[in-house]
Amino acid sequence: MSAMELASLLRKGQVSSKEIAESFLSHIEKNDRVKAYITLAPQALEWAEAADRSLGKDGPSGPLHGIPVAVKDNICTMGLPTTCASRMLKNYVPPYDATVIKRLKAQGAVILGKTNMDEFAMGSSTENSAFGPTHNPAREGFVPGGSSGGSAAAVGAYQAPVALGSDTGGSIRQPASYCGVVGMKPTYGRVSRYGLVAYASSLDQIGPMARTVADCAMLLQAISGHDQMDSTSAPVDVPDFAASLEDGVKGLRLGIPEEYFVLGLDDRIREKVMGAARVLQEQGAELREVSLPHTRYAISAYYLIATAEASSNLARYDGVKYGFRAQGPLADTMEMYQKTRNNGFGREVKRRIMLGTYVLSAGYYEAFYLKALKTRTLIRQDFEKAFQRVDCLLTPVSPCLPFRIGEKIHDPLQMYLVDIYTVSVNLAGLPAISVPCGRVDGLPVGFQIIGKAFDEETILRVAYCYEQHAAEGL
Ligand code: GLN
Repeated sequence: MSAMELASLLRKGQVSSKEIAESFLSHIEKNDRVKAYITLAPQALEWAEAADRSLGKDGPSGPLHGIPVAVKDNICTMGLPTTCASRMLKNYVPPYDATVIKRLKAQGAVILGKTNMDEFAMGSSTENSAFGPTHNPAREGFVPGGSSGGSAAAVGAYQAPVALGSDTGGSIRQPASYCGVVGMKPTYGRVSRYGLVAYASSLDQIGPMARTVADCAMLLQAISGHDQMDSTSAPVDVPDFAASLEDGVKGLRLGIPEEYFVLGLDDRIREKVMGAARVLQEQGAELREVSLPHTRYAISAYYLIATAEASSNLARYDGVKYGFRAQGPLADTMEMYQKTRNNGFGREVKRRIMLGTYVLSAGYYEAFYLKALKTRTLIRQDFEKAFQRVDCLLTPVSPCLPFRIGEKIHDPLQMYLVDIYTVSVNLAGLPAISVPCGRVDGLPVGFQIIGKAFDEETILRVAYCYEQHAAEGL
C-alpha cells in the first residue's frame, strides 16, 4: 500500500501504527536479499505505539502520522547510529535530530531505520559502503544505484512505504530510476540541510522517495520550508503540493534538450523516455526541442567542485572530536591523523579528498576550481535560457540500465559518467524528479523532469499526469 492508503486506514482505525511497523520489520527480517538497511531502529515499535496513543487522544498531527519512514544514513537521528556507511562514523550516535527528522517526528511519522549508501554519499552504486553492497530489488546481483541506493531499494522492495535520500549529483534520482520508484531532488534551499552530514555543501539537498508521485509530494510537504539552523535554506513560502497534482498538462511546454539524447545513451532508454514524452503530449502538453550547450562540461565541473568541497568538509574527521581513531603505538599527533584517516575512509572517499585538495591548492586553484565555478555559471545560464521557452524539461536519468555489482567499481571514470544527466541540475540548484517509465529486460527505467527554481509544483503535476496515463504497467 502507498503511504496515503496506509494513512487513511490508520485514521479509520482499521490498522494501528504498531501493526504497520511490525509488518514492515518482519518483512525485512524474513527474507532480506536486498540489504537496504544498515540499522533497524530498535525504538521503532515504541515510536509507533506513541503514534497510536496520540492519534487516539488528539487525532493526527499531520498526514504522515503513524507512517514508517526509512532514512538515509547520512541524516542525523538522535539516539540512532548515523554512520554515512563509513568506518569513520561506525559508532557515531548523534545527540540531535536533523531538521527534517524533527519535522517528520512532529507529524507523528515513525523512523523505521537507516539505509545503506555509498560512503559519505560518494558514488553511484552503493558499492562504496563499509557495510557491503545493497542489491537491486528487481534483480539480485545488480546495483540499486547510488548513493541513496538503500533508500531506493527499501521502497522498491516494499521494506518501507517512503524514504528520505540526499542528492548532490543525482543520488536520489538515479537510484530511484534503477529501483523503479519516484525520487525528487528539491530546489537548493527548499529543504533544510541542518543535520545532513555534509558532502558538497553548495550541491547537497535532502529529498523524498516513494512508490507514487502523491506520496512523494506528501513527504516533500512534510520536510520543506525555511529553517533558522541552515542559512542556505530559503525564506520562501511552501505551496500545497497536493493541491495542483491533478491539474493536468494541457498547454504546458515541455523541453527536450538535444544534448541529453546523444551518443552514449542506451537506445532502449531513449525509447522509454520518448514514450513518456508522447504520453504527456497526448495529454495536451507541447513538446519543444531546446539546447543546453554546456552539458558536455558538466561532469568535469561537478567532479571538481564536489571534490573541492568534500576535501574541506571531510577535514573534520581527524580522530580527535568524534568518530573513529586509530589505535596502537602512535609516534605523534600527525601519525594519529594519518592512520585515522587512512584506516577510517574507504578508497573512493580518499580519492576524492586528494583530488579536491589538489584542485584547491595554490597554483591549481585558478586552472581547475575557479574555471569549474565559471562553467557552473554557464550551465545555470543554459537552463535560464531554456526556461524562457518551456515550463520544464524532459530527459533520461541515467545513460545506462542498472549494472552488475562489480562491473564499474574498478573504473571510477565509467562510474562518474553515469551521472551525466543528473549533475547539471545540482550545479544549477534546480528541482528535478525521476519517475518510473517502464522496464527493459525486467530492469526499471526512469525519466527525469527538471523544473524552474522553486517550481516543484509543476514537475510533480507533470509526473502525476504521466503516472495516471502511463500505457505500460509499471
Ligand atoms: N554519483 C555522484 C557522486 O558520486 C552523486 C552523488 C550524490 O548525489 N551524493 O558524487
